[in-house]
Amino acid sequence: RVAKKQQQQTLQSTVQAACDFYRQQLPLHKHAMAYLQQRGLSPEIIAHYGIGYAPDGWQPLAQVFQPYPSMPLMESGMVLENENGRQYDRFRHRIMFPIRGVGGEVIGFGGRVLDDSKPKYLNSPDTPLFDKGKNLYGLHEARQTIKDVGRIVVVEGYMDVVALAQFGVGYAVAALGTATTAEHIKLLFRQTDSVYFCFDGDEAGRKAAWRALENALPQLKDDKSLYFLFLPEQHDPDSFVRQFGKMRFEEALLYESKPLSVYFWDALTANLDLNWQEGKAELVKSATPFLNQISQAPALAYLLKQELSHKTGIDPSNLAHLMGQA
Ligand code: ATP
Ligand code: MN
Ligand code: MN
Ligand code: MN
Repeated sequence: RVAKKQQQQTLQSTVQAACDFYRQQLPLHKHAMAYLQQRGLSPEIIAHYGIGYAPDGWQPLAQVFQPYPSMPLMESGMVLENENGRQYDRFRHRIMFPIRGVGGEVIGFGGRVLDDSKPKYLNSPDTPLFDKGKNLYGLHEARQTIKDVGRIVVVEGYMDVVALAQFGVGYAVAALGTATTAEHIKLLFRQTDSVYFCFDGDEAGRKAAWRALENALPQLKDDKSLYFLFLPEQHDPDSFVRQFGKMRFEEALLYESKPLSVYFWDALTANLDLNWQEGKAELVKSATPFLNQISQAPALAYLLKQELSHKTGIDPSNLAHLMGQA
């Protein structure tokens, strides 16, 4: 246990030193500065999120870490080894987004290319310091604003978080290139009672929204609310706030998002015809496993079951019987 704590501290000071290096490199590289400027980011926002630049070359970190490589550099995922045993930096020629843990300490990075080469984003691997399923990008930076406004918006990407902050929406966080997990939901509800999901307007974004709902069901509480905002097909929060501004984004968030209780039925009935008995039967079958997971929000679970009863015309006691058997 003590050994694990010590290892984490070593890894932490390693990624912190890398973060400092990337930040210090940024102003020295005009093309990296130009990229961020072209994406509309001010020096203040760049500083607030600690955005940096990993220079080109195979071993940029060798400039600051001696010896290079070292165990902490390998264990923190900052340095990789090829099949010939040669070591090289994971992040090269990328815009660097430091990812912070709940205490504000740097635990990993996301790195974006400056052009349209692939892969567009690269993340630190899971390490003893960094667990993608338990951390959210931007949470530390957003904490004060979340307290002030009483809500959080969860988006897909680093750029969405930073662009929203640039336009005055300082309460956005992102899951780190993974689905929103039950752990994420718990962490979100620890910050505030109102959580909004606003993913990209494409098919991947819609899938991510449903995944978030599924993972949230066992975590729902009767005094917490989840909302889902669906953007126009071609937009993500970054492009939307850039085109329409903060006012329009917040208007959409507050007045055009669907509470979970609405989105749930919309999604489940999208391909069903409830004028037919078959459609109603299928709805009971598909909704049951989801409704039965809402164990920590008894009032919401009751109300949704009542709604299912209305939608199908099956009276509540028969419905309870059917749902118990499913
Ligand atoms: P940008 O606006 O900079 O082009 P984006 O955030 O809109 O980026 P998307 O393609 O919508 O990019 O992806 C959303 C998020 O998914 C990214 O921010 C990143 O966290 C993650 N992601 C995207 N591509 C990859 C990848 N190749 N590997 C790992 N994660 C990725
Ligand atoms: Mn996308
Ligand atoms: Mn996107
Ligand atoms: Mn984008």
